[in-house]
Amino acid sequence: MESVRPKILVSACLVGCRSRYDAALPEVIDKRLSQWMEWGLVLPFCPETAGGLAVPRPPAEISRRAASDGKVFTCSGEDVTENFVAGAKNAVTAVRFFGIQAAVLKDGSPSCGLTWIYDGFFRNKRIPGRGIAAALLAANKIALFNEINLALLEDWVAKEI
Ligand code: SF4
Repeated sequence: MESVRPKILVSACLVGCRSRYDAALPEVIDKRLSQWMEWGLVLPFCPETAGGLAVPRPPAEISRRAASDGKVFTCSGEDVTENFVAGAKNAVTAVRFFGIQAAVLKDGSPSCGLTWIYDGFFRNKRIPGRGIAAALLAANKIALFNEINLALLEDWVAKEI
């Protein structure tokens, strides 16, 4: 078997790892992700657990309050910003180590959110925005996709293999 290196970092919870705050598994795994996993192209990665947080853990959101804008708090008010920043940095370390140039991230997450996140008040309200890891990966020129626009990655993957 030809040796393969991972080429796409994927939010671990999208490919069946029990990494979500509530320890839930995905109902379905996208067929393309499954195929790319089988081919060895995927590096499953969870920035929150890579930042030292446990499973399960309290839900967290990025604050929009003036005094704490951009920090991350759990629903009980614990400041977990350091964990989120550490996890984001570890994601960048991982993509650099493997030379990965693309990532598929779970939208809505305070780490992985690509187009939207929750508004920081734990009232189930979505706002446009990026998670902490998504923002740092983007700043490091990693091409980002979410579970909705995976089709955009197919041509790229076809050329890479
Ligand atoms: Fe999934 Fe990202 Fe949340 Fe980890 S931090 S559980 S990979 S969405």
